Amino acid sequence: MSAENGEVPPPGAAHRFAVVGMGATGVGVFVALVRSLVAAGQAAGTELHIFETKERLGAGVAYSTPHDCHLLNMRAATMSVHADDPDHFVRWLAGRAEPGPADAGEYVPRRLFAEYLQEFFDEALTEARRHGTKVVTHKSVVSDCREDAHGVHLIAALDHFVFDRVFLCLGDLPSTEYLEFTKLPTYVHSMWQGAGLEAVDPDAIIGVLGTSLTAVDALLQLRAAGHRGAVTCFSRRRSLPKVQGPRVLHTLRHVTERRLRELTGDFTRQLEFAEVAELFRCELEDGLGIAIDWKRVLARPEETFTRTLAKDVELAEKGQTLWYSILDATSEIVPLVWRTMSAKARASFMTEHLSIWSMFRHCMPLDNARRLLDMATDGAFGVASELTAVSYVEGSGTFRVDAAGRTHHVEWLVNATGTGFALDCSDSSLIQNMLMRGDIAPHPLGGIDVDFDTLRVVRRDRSLSGRAHYIGPLTRGVHFYTNSFETNLANAHSAVAAALGPS
Ligand SMILES: Cc1cc2nc3c(=O)[nH]c(=O)nc-3n(C[C@H](O)[C@H](O)[C@H](O)COP(=O)(O)OP(=O)(O)OC[C@H]3O[C@@H](n4cnc5c(N)ncnc54)[C@H](O)[C@@H]3O)c2cc1C
Repeated sequence: MSAENGEVPPPGAAHRFAVVGMGATGVGVFVALVRSLVAAGQAAGTELHIFETKERLGAGVAYSTPHDCHLLNMRAATMSVHADDPDHFVRWLAGRAEPGPADAGEYVPRRLFAEYLQEFFDEALTEARRHGTKVVTHKSVVSDCREDAHGVHLIAALDHFVFDRVFLCLGDLPSTEYLEFTKLPTYVHSMWQGAGLEAVDPDAIIGVLGTSLTAVDALLQLRAAGHRGAVTCFSRRRSLPKVQGPRVLHTLRHVTERRLRELTGDFTRQLEFAEVAELFRCELEDGLGIAIDWKRVLARPEETFTRTLAKDVELAEKGQTLWYSILDATSEIVPLVWRTMSAKARASFMTEHLSIWSMFRHCMPLDNARRLLDMATDGAFGVASELTAVSYVEGSGTFRVDAAGRTHHVEWLVNATGTGFALDCSDSSLIQNMLMRGDIAPHPLGGIDVDFDTLRVVRRDRSLSGRAHYIGPLTRGVHFYTNSFETNLANAHSAVAAALGPS
């Protein structure tokens, strides 16, 4: 192969591209590349190399769970791989031989989305080969990526490759909280790695750190596995996610590009937090047709979590969740809103408001909420907020958890605080090598710094890489809403357009 062993490509040779990491985002990049190359008549002779260690392409962390209780947190009707054909996933579900949920309103097991992505990949692979593109799959870890005048060099296992462009789609980092417990046998740092929750003794008293969607996944998996011991979820501030009701079409009137342009004088100044909050307040109050009692909405609920959950389920069942449709309608514009915010406003949002935003924005499917309510009513789990400290008690081999002025002792501890964003804590040698040389730079709000439009990585000296793009959850500091397939797919298209467009 011409690109291997550091050979410099001959002038005028067809392009060589690499996609590193083939989770959902990598598949999105691959398909966008194939389509764009075919459309531009550049497919013949081009080489596309993909690097992934996992057997299944497209599954990544989010969709490789085999458990049917782990649902997509978005309706099937919003998970199409084709932005211009929103019913694509729903039609795919309906066309499957295996009977199952095919209704557009339903939330389906995440494993089905992995199957869908695999098919999407296979179709693009066939299309690429039909048009004369050489596609090479490497089942290996890329350990370094370095750029010079000849191209971008990748090291994978003992091989060295040179490419014209590289798309890094490495996914999430594991949580960087509670790392001090990782050596303990009764601590689960990530549900998605190793034995995860399957390692837990079915009679054990469990403490789950977090009350987000990951905690919901943990509770439902424990229930499905017939867990008998007591389970308590601990959180610092927030409580369980709210519940998604029916989706109603909402046309934005305030959180719009036009309003952002007006407020910023065509993007010549940045917005402070209060200005952005005001846009969202107007959008919600105008959409709902009422003045919201924000103090009450944002206050810690006074009732028990079971009562709050029961009320949230009831509101979702009655379709009284228009606020969710309004927030959902902002998905596409949110990266631009984030871009217009001052650094101070973004930092204050992250520290002060992210947890409450996530509680409303990343809320749970009604099916899951009903299951949780059954569990809560049966006393199968509890929720304790105002978490202040967690420690391991050597003598008893238990964990001590202090929350809301009470001390709890649990036998197993499960970290459900979500994913991490601290690059220096990553165990990826690819990230560490690039970081050490300054070929990538951490974003001040965590994750990796990239150019907003082209996804080219920002180096330590603030220059932009000419050939390496980073797409995925780690660009949260730049695009904010990167924990959804939708945004990462849109970013995949932007990166590919930038790579194939005029330089
Ligand atoms: C538990 C969970 C549930 C989620 N549910 C939803 C949902 O329902 N709907 C939604 O829209 N979003 C959901 N998300 C958000 C999710 O992050 C994105 O939708 C998407 O799955 C991210 O995909 P990715 O390809 O960027 O990352 P990943 O899925 O993590 O894939 C990254 C891939 O890169 C590979 N890789 C990493 N480093 C290297 C290397 N050096 N060499 C070779 N390969 C490498 C890994 O093996 C992995 O396969 C969920 C996220 C999580 C964590």
